[in-house]
Amino acid sequence: MSEIKKNLENVRRRMAEACEKSGRAAEDVRLIAVSKTKPVSALEEAYACGCRDFGENKVQELVEKYEVLPKDIRWHMIGHLQRNKVKYIVDKVYLIHSVDSLRLAQEIEKEAAKHKKTVNILIEVNVAEEESKFGVTSEDVLELVREVAKMPHIRVKGLMTIAPYVEDAEENRPYFEKLKKIYVDIIHKNIDNVFMEELSMGMTGDYEVAILEGATYIRVGTGIFGERNYGSI
Ligand SMILES: *Cc1c(COP(=O)(O)O)cnc(C)c1O
Repeated sequence: MSEIKKNLENVRRRMAEACEKSGRAAEDVRLIAVSKTKPVSALEEAYACGCRDFGENKVQELVEKYEVLPKDIRWHMIGHLQRNKVKYIVDKVYLIHSVDSLRLAQEIEKEAAKHKKTVNILIEVNVAEEESKFGVTSEDVLELVREVAKMPHIRVKGLMTIAPYVEDAEENRPYFEKLKKIYVDIIHKNIDNVFMEELSMGMTGDYEVAILEGATYIRVGTGIFGERNYGSI
């Protein structure tokens, strides 16, 4: 059996166990195969194993892979997005996970309107307040959600966070809990044009804890495709 196939079976089994443990339905949590830096052949293999959700963090790489891979793939933009690159992906992405400023949202709105499209987005929150990370602060989320909700070509679907890199996944539990709490608070505000349905949290090292805390999307790269080798590209 190929490495990717074996890895996917392992991740899917552990996802199912975490769902079971938290009393959630298996369909409530979806796996995004984070394929950044990986060759098209690796994505094809994951596709053959049933993956339809792929995550990329660079616009050019997403576009190149989009062009050559099957059209039923749902592409997730999970990396920091520059405003001048929005135009290249707005008609290709299924969900943008990384909206963290009003100016970026305004650019997405403008390009989406050109394409007569409604773009689904998540607001990225820096719950752990790491200096090196993008994302709005927990205090600023609500205000940004309210502003973006006014944009007719954008649908706010939920929140995303990138938790710190830790040895013990349990250390990230408070951040996942906090994101969930912000999410629930926003649901209770009943803001027009806000559809809080998705919590994108959990990566290779901590996705089980994220599922226990309510993740609806987990983003797994290394756990499926193996280590990334940034030196070779
Ligand atoms: C790279 C990346 C991931 C996947 O990380 P792994 O630890 O390899 O699973 C998830 N989310 C984001 C935003 C990433 O950039």
